[in-house]
Amino acid sequence: MELRAWRVTLELAETFRISREAQDRAEVVQVELRHGHLAGYGEAAPVERYGQSAGSALAYLKEAATLLGDDPWALEEIHARLPDREPAARAAIDAALHDLCGKLASVPVYRLLGLRRAGPPTSWTIGLGDPDEMARKAERQAGRFRRLKLKLGGRDGLDVERVRAVRRVTALPLRVDVNEYWSLEEALDFLPQLARLGVEYCEQPLPAGHPAGAELKRRSPLPIYLDEDCHVLADVAACAKIGHGIVIKLAKSGGLREALRMAAAARALGLGVMVGCMVESGLGIAPAAHMASACDYVDLDGNLLLARDPCPGLELVDGVQLPPLAPGLGVAPA
Ligand code: MG
Repeated sequence: MELRAWRVTLELAETFRISREAQDRAEVVQVELRHGHLAGYGEAAPVERYGQSAGSALAYLKEAATLLGDDPWALEEIHARLPDREPAARAAIDAALHDLCGKLASVPVYRLLGLRRAGPPTSWTIGLGDPDEMARKAERQAGRFRRLKLKLGGRDGLDVERVRAVRRVTALPLRVDVNEYWSLEEALDFLPQLARLGVEYCEQPLPAGHPAGAELKRRSPLPIYLDEDCHVLADVAACAKIGHGIVIKLAKSGGLREALRMAAAARALGLGVMVGCMVESGLGIAPAAHMASACDYVDLDGNLLLARDPCPGLELVDGVQLPPLAPGLGVAPA
């Protein structure tokens, strides 16, 4: 199999702010994997928080290209040969392999995985901002989405007011994501107030590895979902001690195979499962959309945050990100 990779800059429709950063664009890397007359595609969304970039992903892919062999069905063997770093780049290879296998078998990837096409509705993410600004954004999306996710962690004493302001303008189910920016004291103060406002769950209130995780799980009136604390299968057991659910992202897990193992491990430990994303094109979101029916909660809006999605194909139907019916991922670079 022959691998080709290139860099793509994605422009966001508006600045996207979370606790640790603000973003106007995202650099991703797309790959093409050729096997005979067929081509499989995938996208890497490198995570800066973990020292990755488009440059480091491209360097990894150059090295990985020599290790792929010629059998796209040898998914486990290929993963075993790939060096265990740059998970976003590995996820792009994994996506391209699944795309190829689906095309070879003439079935969409969700069928290849034994899953249903439609998962739960995706949330729409509202970036961190003033309470009024967040409420206005919530109002604007009222008809289009069935769940909202609010970014919190402003460290300005206004996080509960942000949720209250949004709650005033919508009855939609709300989730919040703190991206590691609360202390234990803040979490214990804010979470009961958010529970009274009907918030469903809270993503990553404490910094990853915080020693009070188990105490917060015991005392929190809201389910805690772990994102920055949970990357791969080996992290899931420890997450059962400090949370009620895990957030799977392909850019952290290195692809669909590890993601589905994580979901199974989470179930065995009594944990809920959410699938999330980075700022990605439709090509990056597609593999996650194909596995969404294995999850309880879905946050796959990365391509919808873009000014223009260079890889259309996913359909937003009644708030659900539906993967195409075509063989493979059904989404390709334009
Ligand atoms: Mg998160």
